[in-house]
Amino acid sequence: MASPFGAYTANAEGHRFINCDYWSGQMMLEVYKELNSGNGPVHLKMYHLDDDTIAEIESILWANERPSRGRFHEGRGESYRTHGVEMNISEIGLCSGHSASGVWVNERAETTVPDLYAAGDMASVPHNYMIGAFVYGRIAEENATDYLQGLEHPEPNAHFLAAEQARIYHPLTQPNGIPHTQVEYKLRRLVNDYLQPPKSPHKMAIGLEKFVAYTDTLTGMGARDPHELMRCNEIHFIRDCAEMAVRASLYRKETRWGLYHYRLDYPDRNDTEWFCHVNLKKSESGEMTLFKRPVEPYIVDVDLKEEVYDVAVR
Ligand SMILES: Cc1cc2nc3c(=O)[nH]c(=O)nc-3n(C[C@H](O)[C@H](O)[C@H](O)COP(=O)(O)OP(=O)(O)OC[C@H]3O[C@@H](n4cnc5c(N)ncnc54)[C@H](O)[C@@H]3O)c2cc1C
Repeated sequence: MASPFGAYTANAEGHRFINCDYWSGQMMLEVYKELNSGNGPVHLKMYHLDDDTIAEIESILWANERPSRGRFHEGRGESYRTHGVEMNISEIGLCSGHSASGVWVNERAETTVPDLYAAGDMASVPHNYMIGAFVYGRIAEENATDYLQGLEHPEPNAHFLAAEQARIYHPLTQPNGIPHTQVEYKLRRLVNDYLQPPKSPHKMAIGLEKFVAYTDTLTGMGARDPHELMRCNEIHFIRDCAEMAVRASLYRKETRWGLYHYRLDYPDRNDTEWFCHVNLKKSESGEMTLFKRPVEPYIVDVDLKEEVYDVAVR
């Protein structure tokens, strides 16, 4: 929110080095290169702005978006008038509005599971953020409501429900099992150690083995209350996403989206073979299988030569 007021990302010498401050894999690659160039660390620079502008940024940022931020800086004796806000590359976000991944949906927000609709961060509507979540949420709601009109009330499958309940509630049966905090911490470390770009095929292969084997650790988790039970189940989702991400990353043998899919063994983009989606689905036997899906043509005029923002990896 500070950028429209004139703030920008600068290196340790105070110089701008990013072409476009908006979030993307290309932008992350520019940050990554600067951090590793001897010009790091990098920071959000505001100290060149006038006092009124900085006060306006503070009032929006501290009163609205990040209420604890003002106290955070005060505690460290920092001011936007004299200091940049140091920035770094965070841990990997496997899904969410900032990514180009998620559950496959069509233009009606239908998933490939009959009767199930998806929108927002968990649906694969790349870079949709809040506006996209609102718009796609409405599309999903309208289509699901239409669909429901013609539907007979289905009888739930009692056997399926009982099996699902047993699976989800399992951690409550062993309250002294492994604490969810430890299981989550280790899993996040494995993701960061083996899947963090630039991506090495050998590290990813080790990561894949570890994510698959981690299923056993998850069955040892214990929960003492509903909150811990929720955390345990979230860790299952993190593991599933990690396995899907590493399988898809190994499958796509090229580099694309700047830092996000920078493969050390395939450092170039290869539109001939990889200008496509990589999808995963569950086979009849329950295995994850991968396949390519063509990209739909643009429905608005886009000058791809004009719009290109392609940072070289080397
Ligand atoms: C740090 C940060 C900054 C961002 N800044 C911006 C910005 O400036 N502008 C912008 O447009 N977007 C921004 N975004 C993105 C935006 O916040 C998200 O795209 C948007 O909130 C997604 O909405 P959603 O409803 O899909 O998901 P969420 O807002 O994540 O809602 C999902 C809800 O489901 C609940 N839930 C999860 N599991 C279960 C379960 N099993 N049972 C019941 N409930 C469950 C969760 O608790 C949560 O409340 C930002 C995101 C982050 C993380």
